[in-house]
Amino acid sequence: MKSIPLVDLKAQFQGIKPEVMPAIESVLDGMNLFLGENVYHLERDFAEMCHAKYGVGVGSGTEALFLALTACGIGVGDEVITVPNTFFATVEAIVLTGARPVFVDIDPGTYTMDPSQIEDVVGPRTKAVIPVHLYGQPADMGPIKRVASKYGLKIIEDACQAHGATYDDRRTGSLGDVAAFSFYYSKNLGAYGEGGIITTKNRAIATHMQMLRNHGSSQRYYHTYYGTNSRLDEIQAAILRVKLPYLEQWSTRRRALALEYSQRLKDIPEVQTPVEREGSSHVYHLYVIQVPDRDDLQAWLKRHGVQTGIHYPVPIHLQPACAHMGYSEGSFPVAEAAADRILSLPIYPELAIEDVAYICQTIKDYYGKRSGSKRRMLTVVKGDQS
Ligand SMILES: *Cc1c(COP(=O)(O)O)cnc(C)c1O
Repeated sequence: MKSIPLVDLKAQFQGIKPEVMPAIESVLDGMNLFLGENVYHLERDFAEMCHAKYGVGVGSGTEALFLALTACGIGVGDEVITVPNTFFATVEAIVLTGARPVFVDIDPGTYTMDPSQIEDVVGPRTKAVIPVHLYGQPADMGPIKRVASKYGLKIIEDACQAHGATYDDRRTGSLGDVAAFSFYYSKNLGAYGEGGIITTKNRAIATHMQMLRNHGSSQRYYHTYYGTNSRLDEIQAAILRVKLPYLEQWSTRRRALALEYSQRLKDIPEVQTPVEREGSSHVYHLYVIQVPDRDDLQAWLKRHGVQTGIHYPVPIHLQPACAHMGYSEGSFPVAEAAADRILSLPIYPELAIEDVAYICQTIKDYYGKRSGSKRRMLTVVKGDQS
C-alpha cells in the first residue's frame, strides 16, 4: 500500500545535503555562533526577496510577531485586531505584549480576514491589525490598508505561512508596516531548529527590533530597552542561506501540485477546492479542501496510506486559554463552520504528481462508494413501499 506523509522533510534534505553540510561545518569551524555573517547575509537577502528594506533575524515566528508588535509601540491597554482561524501564536504574541486581541471573521472563500468587518470593532484603544496570510495566500491587503490608514492603525503581517507570496505584484513582508515570518522546520522556508525573521521598510522600527532581540542592547552590557533573548543562530542562518535560492522553484512546484489537485478534484461536488484571489499568488504552504464529512474522509484516507492534517480544528476564540475574552460558539460563524470541514492534503515540493493522482482517486472512490450505498438504500426504501 502507498504511504504518503503530509510533509516529507527527509526528501528535501537529501537534495541539498551536499550544500548544507559544509555550511554547518564552516560555522562550527569559526565558532562565531550568533548574529554573525550568515545572519547578516540572510537578513539582507531575505529582505530583498520580500521587496522590504530591512530584515531582523530572531528566535522564532512567535517572537517575530511579539517583537514586531512591541517595536510598533503596542502594549498594555491596547487592542489588536486579528482573526480566530490561525495558529495560536498569532494571538499569543498579542497577549504577551499586554494588549488585548479582538477578532473579526474571515472570508469564506480564502479563509483570510474579512476587511469589511474591521471597522465594526475599531475603538479608541485599537492600535494595530494583524492580517494572517493563511495557508500561503496573502490576506486582502488593499481594503485592510484603507481601513488601517483611516484609523491610524499599524499593520503587522503574519506571514509565517507565506514566504514569497504576492499581492498585486508585491511580496508578503512589504505589504504592511512590519511582517513576521517563521522558519519552523515545516514552513515553506524552514530551518533545522527554531528561527524567524521580521521585515520592514522603516529604519527606526528595524533598529528597535535589532535591539529588542538582544536584551534591548546595541552595545554589549549597555541596555537601552527591556528586550529579550531572541537571536537567530548562525547554524540556522547558514542552512537558510542554502535554502533561500531554492524558494522560488519550490513555490512554483507547490503551485503546480495544487493545480493538479484542483483539476482532479473539481468534479466531485462534495469537495470545495482552494479559492485563489485574483491578483495574488498563493504559495500553498497547505493545500486545504472543505468537505461535509471531514472526519470520515480523513479516516478513509488514512486507511489508504494518506496522512492529512486539520489547520486548525478549534478556532482560537473557543480555545480554553481564551475563555476570558468573552467570545462563545456562534461569535464567528464562518471560521467555526470552516473548522469542522477543512482538511489539509499532503503538499511539499518533492511530492510526485502520481501521488496527487492517487490521493484524488482515493477521494473519488470514497464519494463513489457513498453515493453507491445511498442509491442502494433508496432502492430498498422503494422496495419496502411497493
Ligand atoms: C508557524 C506560525 C507561527 C509561529 O511560528 P513559530 O516559528 O513556530 O514560532 C505564527 N503564525 C502562523 C500563522 C504560523 O503558521
